[in-house]
Amino acid sequence: MIVDNTSAKLDQLNSQELGKFMHALLTELYPICRSITGDGVRQSLRLLQAQIPLTLHEVPTGTPVFDWTVPKEWNIRDAYVKNARGEKVIDFQQSNLHILNYSVPIHQHMSLRELKQHLYSLPDQPQSIPYRTAYYAENWGFCLTHERLLALEEGDYEVYIDSTLADGHLTYGELIVPGTSAETILISCHCCHPSLCNDNLSGMVLSTYLAKMLLEQQATQPSHYTYRFLFIPGTIGSITWLALHEAEASKIKHGLVVACVGDAGALTYKKSRRGDAEIDRAVAQVLAHSNQPYAMVDFTPFGYDERQYCSPGFNLAVGSLSRTPYARFPQYHTSDDNLSFVTATALDDSLAIYWAVLALLEQNRTYINLSPKGEPQLGRRGLYGAFGGKKDTKASEMAMLWVLNFSDGQHSLLDIAERSGYSFQLLAEVARTLQSHSLLQEETR
Ligand code: ZN
Repeated sequence: MIVDNTSAKLDQLNSQELGKFMHALLTELYPICRSITGDGVRQSLRLLQAQIPLTLHEVPTGTPVFDWTVPKEWNIRDAYVKNARGEKVIDFQQSNLHILNYSVPIHQHMSLRELKQHLYSLPDQPQSIPYRTAYYAENWGFCLTHERLLALEEGDYEVYIDSTLADGHLTYGELIVPGTSAETILISCHCCHPSLCNDNLSGMVLSTYLAKMLLEQQATQPSHYTYRFLFIPGTIGSITWLALHEAEASKIKHGLVVACVGDAGALTYKKSRRGDAEIDRAVAQVLAHSNQPYAMVDFTPFGYDERQYCSPGFNLAVGSLSRTPYARFPQYHTSDDNLSFVTATALDDSLAIYWAVLALLEQNRTYINLSPKGEPQLGRRGLYGAFGGKKDTKASEMAMLWVLNFSDGQHSLLDIAERSGYSFQLLAEVARTLQSHSLLQEETR
């Protein structure tokens, strides 16, 4: 099922090594010129197919998707600006950020004044190349450092862009991992940015490794939930998927949009539009017991694809778990969002938190106390001290009392974790013990 040979050893790998594998995959993806359509996306998704059995879907240009239309497909082979001496002063081959993404083809001579109307730079960050797009306006342009822009001399310039904008397809990748239930957990990331690492190669590699871990686990222990991984171009990709899969969308019970998970900043969770969905509470619970700083923010109608999943016609329970969020780091959408801005350590930590959230959702269930009249006699069953030798024996006994008291069919383990302050993992562990002593019965879900 999984094709590369590292996966067979996944469970034996310590997590630091997974961070290194993720960073290595990110390094492979980095040079590719991606966009919302085109061969860069296909090439990137094929690289991921070497890791996970991803299916590539192609949606034709012109397909109506709600209020939008699948755009023409864009591909680029080369682009440069030459000065009067024939020297390349801007060269796409040096960085794909130099091209205004979705630039139409051109081959023309012009003055510096004319050229400047098509140049984009960052005066406040004079050594960084900005990332700019022109998806829905047929335009052309180049992005460059402000220092380079200021150094351009008066004179004649040759502008050359070898691109095509034509009917084709929008490409996206999808992996479905079936569980025992059709209820679905959505993991969605955008795959449309060119050489930018945190936003969002980090999301692509984390989603890939999350899928790898899940597939590895499914081999021995089937999950309750079905998982759907989407690798889609931002905005138009999620709108396209939703428009073509309304029935499947209705099965999404929880979801996370994966973006900006590789920088050194603290984890930040942006809640779903609902604000109190199980996914919101699950992430809050994991972060609260993660022994690291984190932030919780309310839903806003800007950011990544959570905007589409949480549009009022769907209002899905989808949040977004990132490190430093969207647009809040100076490297955002510039050439400084590079291979050194994203670290193996941060990727690894983010992956562990995502895995813990999925584990919580899988284990969150409601039990019924089979001896609800008075407390059952735990000592007689050897349950006091059942966790003996552990430093947290007292906590385990208290956790047992919480689970027994609130297992009335009305409270899930997550409800009990929130009310008691004990960690979900501890409560889940004692619930399994109580179940094995026939004191608890699991409600079917
Ligand atoms: Zn972005």
